[in-house]
Amino acid sequence: MPGKPIDWIRPEIRELSAYHVADATGMVKLDAMENPYRLPDEVLRQWQQDLLTADLNRYPDPQAGALQQKLKQIMQVPEGQGMVLGNGSDELIQMLALAVAAPGRCILSFEPGFVMYSMISRFTGMNYIGVPLADDFTLDMDKTREAIEQNQPAIIFIAYPNNPTGNLFDADAIGEIIRMAPGLVVIDEAYHPFAFASFMPTLAEYGHLLVMRTVSKMGLAGLRLGYLCGDAELINEVNKVRLPYNINVLTQYSARFILDNAGFLDGQAEMIRSDRDKMLKHMTLLDGVEVFPSQANFILFRLKHADADKVFDSLHDQGVLIKNMNSPGVLHNCLRVTVGTSEENHAFLFALEQALNS
Ligand SMILES: *Cc1c(COP(=O)(O)O)cnc(C)c1O
Repeated sequence: MPGKPIDWIRPEIRELSAYHVADATGMVKLDAMENPYRLPDEVLRQWQQDLLTADLNRYPDPQAGALQQKLKQIMQVPEGQGMVLGNGSDELIQMLALAVAAPGRCILSFEPGFVMYSMISRFTGMNYIGVPLADDFTLDMDKTREAIEQNQPAIIFIAYPNNPTGNLFDADAIGEIIRMAPGLVVIDEAYHPFAFASFMPTLAEYGHLLVMRTVSKMGLAGLRLGYLCGDAELINEVNKVRLPYNINVLTQYSARFILDNAGFLDGQAEMIRSDRDKMLKHMTLLDGVEVFPSQANFILFRLKHADADKVFDSLHDQGVLIKNMNSPGVLHNCLRVTVGTSEENHAFLFALEQALNS
């Protein structure tokens, strides 16, 4: 019998460290793949007006029906497909895991990859299989086939583009994974606004394929809103583990309003893509920096001679916060920077050159 209160906490939870978010006060913040731009003044004013009619004394629409309709239309979800909304796509990953969790079952994804797949597997008592990517961060199909055959995963998560590497996996290879998967396959398109590729149009071809997206990286991270699309019957089952009012009144109102006036978001994404390409070019010219191609709003790079921890600290001392990805293995000596405004990007590039030359 456990003695202390804390002994009741499962050992696999006690082993974890809580998801760490760095303090960014006063920093040039390029660590979390946020869109650096705020709402245009006119949209901001109208949005505030619109919010005056929100009923904060009432529970929100439990299905957020009006918002779902809007998302289906604007995001070109194929006719007849189902949708469920999450408090960020993180919550959708949790719902999916809760819906399939059973002793001995596992979730499969790729490493290096998005940390929440493995974290949430653990939270829900499932095994997690991380199939290593090849050294160039492409899918290693021999390892993938073997891992799927051996482990028969309940869910395979594929981030497209991948985080933290920034690349799009080969679409034909993903097609093969979809066809060989015994369970569900979730294509996580969090970075869709920065890539010209999507599995959304193929949803109707496969009953076990789901496409997950979020409004976070496209400029509305503060709202916490993700959406999962796929076969209506399957979505209906996932919807059963959703807590009733997970999308609050302010988020439902705000998202509907902003999506009605969303033209500016496309413009911002275009600016970010163009600044990303400029930054990639600039970084490629730096001596001692290996830059990995990116279809997302961030860039992964490796320091060939300098020590990544020291460079990270030097950038931090210079007021620039990025993400330190340095760990043994394929991410050895790697750092990840989010594309910000052109001023922020210049501040980063200047600080990086300082750090490399010191
Ligand atoms: C950022 C990110 C998410 C989480 O998005 P939220 O909607 O903010 O929870 C999901 N998947 C990937 C690959 C991400 O990088």
